[in-house]
Formats: sequence, structure tokens, C-alpha cells
Amino acid sequence: MGATSLPARAKIVIIGGGVGGTSVAYHLAQMGERDVVLLDRNELTSGSTFHSAGLVGQLRADPTLTKMNMHSVELYRALELTSTPPGWKETGSIKLASSPERMQEIRRQIGWARTFGLDLHEISPAEAQQMFPLIDLDGVVGACYMASDGEVDPSQLSHAMAAGARQHGMKIVTNTRVVEILMSHGRVTGVVTDKGDIECEVVVNCGGMYAPSIGRLVGVRIPIVPMSHQYVITENFLDPTAPRLPSLRDPDNLVYYRQEVAGLLMGGYERNSKPWTASHAHVDDIPADFNSRLLDEDWERFEEIAVNSQRRVPIMGKLGVKNFINGPEGFTPDNEFCLGETEVGGFYVAAGFCAHGIAGAGGIGKVVAEWVIAGEPQMDLWHMDIRRFGAAYKSPSFTMKRVQENYESYYDIHYPGEERQRARPLKTSPVYLWHRDAGAVFGEKAGWERVNYYQSHATDNSLQPYGWAGKYWSSAIATEHRATRESAGLFDESSFAKFSVTGVRAGEFLNIVCANNVVKGDGRAVYTQALNSRGGIECDFTVTQTGENSFFIVTGTAFGTHDLGWLKKQRRELGYVEVLLEDVTGAYACFGLWGPKAREILSGITPCDVSGKAFPFMHSREITIGDIPVRATRITYVGELGWEFYVSSEYGAALWQVLLQAGEPYQLMTCGYKAIDSLRLEKGYRAWGGEINSETTPWEAGLGFAVALGKEQFIGRGALADSRGKEEKRLVALLFDDIRRVPLGNEPIRIGGEIVGRVKSGGQGFTIGKAIGYGYLPIQHSEPATAVEVEFFGEWASGVVAQEPLFDPTGSKFRA
Ligand SMILES: Cc1cc2nc3c(=O)[nH]c(=O)nc-3n(C[C@H](O)[C@H](O)[C@H](O)COP(=O)(O)OP(=O)(O)OC[C@H]3O[C@@H](n4cnc5c(N)ncnc54)[C@H](O)[C@@H]3O)c2cc1C
Repeated sequence: MGATSLPARAKIVIIGGGVGGTSVAYHLAQMGERDVVLLDRNELTSGSTFHSAGLVGQLRADPTLTKMNMHSVELYRALELTSTPPGWKETGSIKLASSPERMQEIRRQIGWARTFGLDLHEISPAEAQQMFPLIDLDGVVGACYMASDGEVDPSQLSHAMAAGARQHGMKIVTNTRVVEILMSHGRVTGVVTDKGDIECEVVVNCGGMYAPSIGRLVGVRIPIVPMSHQYVITENFLDPTAPRLPSLRDPDNLVYYRQEVAGLLMGGYERNSKPWTASHAHVDDIPADFNSRLLDEDWERFEEIAVNSQRRVPIMGKLGVKNFINGPEGFTPDNEFCLGETEVGGFYVAAGFCAHGIAGAGGIGKVVAEWVIAGEPQMDLWHMDIRRFGAAYKSPSFTMKRVQENYESYYDIHYPGEERQRARPLKTSPVYLWHRDAGAVFGEKAGWERVNYYQSHATDNSLQPYGWAGKYWSSAIATEHRATRESAGLFDESSFAKFSVTGVRAGEFLNIVCANNVVKGDGRAVYTQALNSRGGIECDFTVTQTGENSFFIVTGTAFGTHDLGWLKKQRRELGYVEVLLEDVTGAYACFGLWGPKAREILSGITPCDVSGKAFPFMHSREITIGDIPVRATRITYVGELGWEFYVSSEYGAALWQVLLQAGEPYQLMTCGYKAIDSLRLEKGYRAWGGEINSETTPWEAGLGFAVALGKEQFIGRGALADSRGKEEKRLVALLFDDIRRVPLGNEPIRIGGEIVGRVKSGGQGFTIGKAIGYGYLPIQHSEPATAVEVEFFGEWASGVVAQEPLFDPTGSKFRA
């Protein structure tokens, strides 16, 4: 029952009373926030929540998400002991492998589950059948079991969390629709509802599949598409007095099952997905009266699942169906949640739960409540951060293609290095056609087509990594790596995100946002991080001063929206309104020329003196190359002498040709991003989202050299100054003698039989002839020469902590 009176003012307004909104409210209350109102246009749980299947699985591919789901289980267990129990049943869960590849995936998951202290372990097919006697074992290769997974009643859960919030004085007002959101100076200031207005500082959009239409009220695009999602409930046939069955997933057959009363609930992910589109203008418009309602049964589309379900649980073919549920649910383009503060100050979103919102709700509520209170996330939430979606997601059709591709491959094994196929090509460099004709194998990042490697450079497969790491591998990567180290490589990096920062206070602003001193005079380039208040790394980029009051920032392809969003937020909150921040990514192509021959190649095509003395490392100049005006910056991400050339896009194709021709006598080789990754891992250059993120400080990551503690003020300075010399963990490089034994990330690391960390990233060092991994280890285990073991698909392999950098320790190559 909702309170009826609407306050005129509240600090925080939550829109949406599903499992998401009630969890955010509950956690805000737990964290001491009292001045909060939750509004729902209908009754609580009347969106997607009421028709959910209620399965709660914890282990996910993303470590943060796994921790969040573990919090959910803890919370549901605790709520079960209150006067409003959510119906939590810790039934355990079984996952079957109906293919050898799935068994490999399971063994890999068991490895990383161990790093979380999760109780996932392998069981035999016979053991699986003992726990779930209805299974036919034909084709079952193996299985795993997690005792602490379970199921919960989604509506009862929402009501339990709502009750917890109300106990702390929060108002929950139902049948109240938000029709307008008020803003001033880029921040929300209130909401207008059909029952009256509320002035507020923060709005949290917990609208589920309705979230895009709520986002439109402030001009924010939220790329969520309501998709039809189905399951059936059979007639009762089980002995209700027997112990409850664990839940069962058979992803190779696209199905899951759990006990429902004395019957079975069975659903899955169809290969022929169906967006539920309400209008042609928006793929995500939902009728004003769509609450507590379901979609029509779509038996035709469900047939594949129904047939598969009988293969694994034959009795399904004989049981009558008591209930067929076709309910819409909001899906994102990558099957990850959509969380965090948007480009509008104080306007947060926590939606798009992609059919794992019940499992995620506890964790979602916690991290979003923390984010709202602190103004910045308290964990590495990059994979769920709304700022991962670039401008292309403003297009409904692009969003739709990506959502459908992900939905339809939900239960597939996603091998590292797998590329998306739909909605390509979208963003291309001026030399895209040249690459294509030269046999480039493209990867896709943030909508950009990028060269992974050129097929013509492939030789033999003697270095192909074992197992999954070798799946999308090519010997061309090694060829391109070596060419860069031995002669020179030419890389098309046009997809780099680029910003221009201008204005009389631009330098002052950047020096407050960045940990390094980035104001060193016209023509100087500086590598820096932007930190959060805890000293964690929010952004990792280079800042080049291009004039007294103008700066050029270059960051990773996928981080444009995130990093620009971070800068704009700081500009708004610190009051630097007159500083102009512009995304100029598409305006410039970028080519990297690196290797011992880079100077000789460049000096033949430019009148500019490019000697070490005249053009030192980390300097940037406007020069000409052939007939073309270019900004050349002496910088490296591969550890070799060289330059990045930034050129107005219309000159891009011409510049590429000039560089190619000049490089011919020097065996210049065109190279792709896979070679960059191998080269940078060998040199120890960090990648945000890989080895570093908002949870790691520059001290822990070995980036203290890029911190100017001498500056009086910058965001995160206090936390950094306090934590200096007190790190508890440190990023280390691990080496494996067998170059084919390549870690992928998330593998457990153990020392003396005890798990002490997990791998963050891995690759091959073709110059040093070893496989490389990076990971954080407790400080007492981080000394070079420490012997470690890493688990690869159930087998432990020996490695060693190595002294960094692994290649060219004095930097003599790139400083030449
Ligand atoms: C068939 C099916 C099976 C599923 N099975 C599982 C499962 O086994 N395990 C699992 O973890 N997840 C499962 N899910 C997913 C889970 O149910 C959802 O992720 C979750 O319920 C979404 O919750 P929500 O709070 O984000 O959205 P909703 O529950 O949709 O809540 C959004 C609320 O916002 C309100 N609202 C919208 N616009 C306004 C406005 N303008 N003003 C005020 N209020 C507004 C709506 O009325 C609605 O109540 C399943 C989903 C489906 C469809």
C-alpha cells in the first residue's frame, strides 16, 4: 500500500517501484538517507518484476557483477529472517555441459569462482542426475554445482525491500506518474507528476524497460529495448514433500528449469528474438496503460526451447502446461546493466537488467545508492556504466541490432577476442578501404572498424596459444610485433577518442582534474590519470598543450563518452562553465609510426628537424609531411621510437600513402591492434579497463611517476597523499616460460597453495619469448622472482613475478 500524499520537496526521487527501484530505496535507507521518495505510475512490481522467473545465480563473467550478485544472496538470506520474507530458497544450482567446449568454460568458471570464495565445484553427470533425477544424460559431458544459488519470489522481494525502506521513513507513492523532469544549468531540479510536483536534487530512473521514455524527459538516450521473454510452468507432478530440486541450466540447449510448487518452470533464450516495439518512432515506447500485463503467448517462437527442453528433461514432453508467460523485459546492447549518472547532473539510471535483475537487484541497489551518495561509483562499474554507450546508440536501429545479437547469443560461449557481427561497418577511418583491400582482419570497438592484423602477414602456427587464447589468434600478430621492434610498424589509430579543451581557464581546470602537471607549455605532451576522490583511476589519457589556452586529449577508442562525461561533470561541479570541451574524434585521423627506423622514414618526408635534440620525447609539433599539415607527437604505446600523427580527416588517405611509400625501403609494415596489445604488455604500458580502473590507485598500478603530488590541488590528491607507501596490493607482471600458455584474465593466482589474486590481463611477448600476465598481488607477495601458480582451465601452471618493464628497462629505444 503506497502513501498517498506527495511531498513538495525531497532530496532524492526514485522513479519505478520494481525490484530495481525498491532495492535502491532500501540501500539508500540503510546508508542513512531519509529524504527519499519512490514513485510508481502504477502499483509496485507492476512492470517486469511481477512475471519474473526469480532465479538467482551469482557467478558472472565480470568480477564486479559477481560480487554484486553475492551481495544479493546475502541480502535475500537476511531478509528471509525478517517479518517480510521474500521467499528466498537456497536450492543450489546445477549447470550442465552438453559439449566439451562448455565443460572447458565450466572449469574456467570454477577457477575464477575460487577467487571470490564461491562454492562452485565440478560434479559428475551422475551426481547431477542424482540431484535432479529428471535429467536424461545423453550428451552430458559434465556439470558444476553451486550450493548457495537459489530462487526468490520477485514481488515479495520488492515488497520486502520497500518495507525496509519505509521503516526508515522513506515515502513510497504509487499510482503517480512522472510526466516531466525539471532541469536548470545541466542539473535536475525536480519532477512533475500527474499528482503534483516535487523539487529534488537527484532523480534515479529505475524504470526498467520504461527507462528510455523517462530518459527522454531530460533528453538522455538510454539504449534499452523491451524484448519479449518467455517461460512455461507445467502442471504439478512432483512430490511436494520431497526436497526441492535445485535450479538447472543447460546453456548448450538454451534452457533453464526450476521447481515451481510441484511442477517445473522452464524457459530460455530463443535464437529468433523478438523486440516488443510499440511504435515506429521509438523502439522502446511502452503504452501508457501497460502495467501488470503480459504479451500474447508466442508458441511458434518458443518451439525451439520446448523441443530442447524435452531432450534434457524428457518428462517435459508429457506434462501439460499450466501457465505460459510472455513478459517484456528491458535488454541493453551488451547484456550488461545500465547504471550511473548520465550527462545530466543528478540524473541517474539503474535499469536494463537483461533478465538477470532479480539476481542482480541486491547488488544494483547497493552500488547505485553508493554512487548517488558519493557522486562517483565506489567499485569498478565500467562494464555497467551508462557512459560506455557512445553517440551511435542514439540510433534506435543500431541499438536494436546490437540488442538482438546479444539476446540471441546469450547462452553461447563467448570466447575472448570474439567480435560482434551486426551493424558493421559503422565508423571507419579514411583508409578503411585500403585496409580492406590489403586483407585486414577487422575488429570492432565502440562502433569503429579497426585492424586487428593483416592476413597476409600470417606465417606458421608454432606459437599459437593453447585453448581459448588461440581461438582468434593469428601468427600475423607475431610478424607485426617483430617488424615494429626490428624495423618499423605503421598503425591506423584513427578511432582514438579525442577532445579539445579550450578557454582561458582550460589549463587551470585540467590541472585540477588531472593527477599529473599537464600545463607545461605549448607543444608538450603529458601522460596522466584523472582520479576520483578515493585516488582511483577514472581516466587514463594524454594531454597535449597546443596553445596558451588550448589542449588536446587523446584517450582509448571505447572511453570517449566516459572520459568526456567525467570531464564535463567536473567542469559543472567545479564551476568552470566557460571552459569549452569538445569531442573531436571524427575530425582527426591518427597514424602511429614506431620502430627503430621511424626517424629515418620520417626525416625523408618532412622539412622539420626530427632529431632527438630538436624533437624530444613527449613533445608535439605542427609539421608538414609531404603536402600535408600534420600534428606530430613523439609518444609511444609500444615502447619504440616514433610519433603519432594527427591529421585533419580529409588528408588521412594521402598521409597514409606518403608514409607507406617513405617506409618501403625500410621494410615498414602495416600493423594492427593485436600487435599493439602484445607490444604494450611487453613494455608494461597499462590499459584502463584492463590492468587499471577506478578501484586501483596510481601507487598500486606502478604509475606513481605520473602523479605530481607537488601540485597543491587536484581531485584525489588527499587520498593519494594519505595512501602513499601504504599500498596493500601491487600490480605485477607474471611470466610463463611457455609462450603458448597465455592467460586470458580472471584466472586464480596462488602462492604456496593459497589463492592470492586473479589475473587481470594476458598476452604474448614475442620479443622476450614468453607469455605474460598482469595481476594484483598482496604487497608481501609482489617481489620479483616470487614463484606463482596460475590455473588454466583446471590445470595449474608455474610462473614467476618478473621485474618490470619486461622489455627495454632503461627506455633507451623510445628515448633515442
Ligand atoms: C519472463 C521473464 C523471466 C525473468 N526471469 C528472471 C530470473 O529468473 N532471474 C532474474 O534475475 N531475472 C529475471 N527476469 C528479469 C527481471 O524480472 C527484471 O530484470 C526485473 O524485474 C526488472 O526490474 P526493474 O525494477 O528494473 O523494472 P520494472 O519491474 O519494470 O519496474 C519499473 C517500474 O517503473 C514504473 N514506471 C515507469 N515509468 C514511470 C513513470 N513515468 N513514473 C513512475 N513510474 C514509472 C513502472 O510502472 C514499473 O513498475 C525475468 C524477466 C522476464 C520478463
